[in-house]
This record gives sequence, structure tokens and C-alpha cells, in this order.
Amino acid sequence: NVRPLAAGNWKMNGSSEMTLSLLKGLTERLKSAGGSLAAEILVCPPFPYLAAAIALVDKDIAVGGQDCHPKASGAHTGDVAAAMLADIGCRYVILGHSERRTDHGESSAEVAAKAAAALVAKLTAIICVGETEAERDRGEALKIVEKQIVESLPPAGSASNLVIAYEPVWAIGTGRTPTSDDVAAVHGHIRKLLRTNLADGGQVRILYGGSVKPANAAELMAIPDVNGALVGGASLKAEDFWAIAEAC
Ligand code: 13P
Repeated sequence: NVRPLAAGNWKMNGSSEMTLSLLKGLTERLKSAGGSLAAEILVCPPFPYLAAAIALVDKDIAVGGQDCHPKASGAHTGDVAAAMLADIGCRYVILGHSERRTDHGESSAEVAAKAAAALVAKLTAIICVGETEAERDRGEALKIVEKQIVESLPPAGSASNLVIAYEPVWAIGTGRTPTSDDVAAVHGHIRKLLRTNLADGGQVRILYGGSVKPANAAELMAIPDVNGALVGGASLKAEDFWAIAEAC
């Protein structure tokens, strides 16, 4: 009943040429597949390529930003407002990625404020959470993820405007993934929290992210309460991202 989401986070990668060839590759594959997959497809290029990406895809591929500012406008040099993303045709925004929490010191409270701004702009917020390796080794993965979720959720969140992405920090770009049992435990815990905190928490999509590849996608997607993938490195090649989208 929940439509899965295959989301590509390009991070700080790409060029005009890459945007063109990757999106051509995806739209052609989608056309050959009859216009849609079981999963919804989303690409999140860097800001400079968003408008070009939106012009290249039809409505069956969604485009999203990788961050937004909590304020609607004003003196915030270098930042981008959620309404600007919506204005050019973005439907999603990734928030609180571990790289932003680390590189820019983003707190969960800031992520919640950004998510609230995204919802006002009618974007769907993809809120990222995940433990570090040290936290997992200390047996604190569930506790950390719970704290991040509870503190990062915006007040007006619901299944129609919220997606959660579980990305263990130690699995990002490393080729390592948690066991299926560990993924199931975290996703099950997130589901429980969402059911407690939101009226339609059972319908919120919970993505897994961290070294998702064509070779492991089907196994990861078969885990209960895994409703799609947030893909970094493998989303930069049309062939690989398409294979993952098919597995979702
Ligand atoms: P990788 O797929 O490259 O491990 O990155 C995951 C990620 O951080 C997606 O947001």
C-alpha cells in the first residue's frame, strides 16, 4: 500500500553534461519500462543543476534539493529557501544528511526547523538519521536514531510530506552494510516511533541508505519496513540507479 521511493543523492557530484546523460539514461529506461515502475524515482542533484534536471524529466521522475534554509527569505548568503526549490519544480528536499550534520554542524532542532519550512513550501522532506560506528559498537544505535527522529520531526509531518531515511554513518560510501537483522531492528523501531508520533505513521516511507548497490538492493528492499533506498555513489550511473529502482 506504500509506494516505495528510489532516491538518488548526487551529493557534490556532477556537471551539466552528467546531468544530461544521466537523466536521458533514466528517462529512456523508464519509457522502455512502460512509463512507470512500482517505485517512485527521485533525483537530487546539486543546486546549480536542479533547473536543468527538471527540464529534462517528465513528471514520472521527481527532482529534489539536498538542503534548504529554515527561513523563507532574507539575509542568508549562500543559502536556498524551500519555496525557491518548490518554485522551480522540486517536489522533495533531503534534510539532515549526516554529511550536513558533520560538515555544517546541523543539529536535529535545525533539521526540524528546515523540515517545517519545507512543509510550508509544499515539499516532501526526507529526514536522514543514523548512528556512527562508535555508537553502534556501544550498542546505542536504536537510542541515537530514536533521539534524532524525535528531535528532527516537524510539527505538521505526515505520510504525505515526510520520508525518513536510515543511513548508518559507517555504511555511507564504505561498501559496508548492516546485516538484514540490524536493518530490520532499526526500521522496525522507526516505524514504532512514527506510529506513536503521527496519525498516519504506518504509511510514512522509511528508506535505507548506505552502500546500496544493484547487487544488494533486492535483499535490502525485502526487509520489513524498508520502503525504498537513498542512494549515493550508485545513483551517479544510470544503469546502476535504474537497477536499484527496479529492485525497490
Ligand atoms: P552511498 O550510497 O555512496 O554509500 O551514500 C549513501 C548516502 O549517503 C545517500 O544519501
